[in-house]
Amino acid sequence: MGIFRCTVCGYKFEGPEAPEFCPKCGAPKDKFIALDEESAKKVVSSARTNSIHAELIAIADRVIALAEEGIEINLDPPCVALFHKAVTEATQIRQRSKAEIEGHIGKGKW
Ligand SMILES: [Zn+2]
Repeated sequence: MGIFRCTVCGYKFEGPEAPEFCPKCGAPKDKFIALDEESAKKVVSSARTNSIHAELIAIADRVIALAEEGIEINLDPPCVALFHKAVTEATQIRQRSKAEIEGHIGKGKW
């Protein structure tokens, strides 16, 4: 098993050998290069890290939606204050993870 990178478009393919043609740009097999073990590990850990960030963003969206519902119900001021806090905190988590993912894309860690 290894990771092969298309030198034309950057597509990364995981398998025992490079594919006949790049699934993204159609470049032939000889345009693929095998990544060394260290780079291959990095690709796997950045893929996992990015999906963790994506999941955090989804959870934060859910927290915001729930808290907004609580604000809407408006049972009493302490509850509403907590929900406002939850919106602020979840928004921070969401923005941080979004910025981090964007940073990774910029550095090719995707
Ligand atoms: Zn390609």
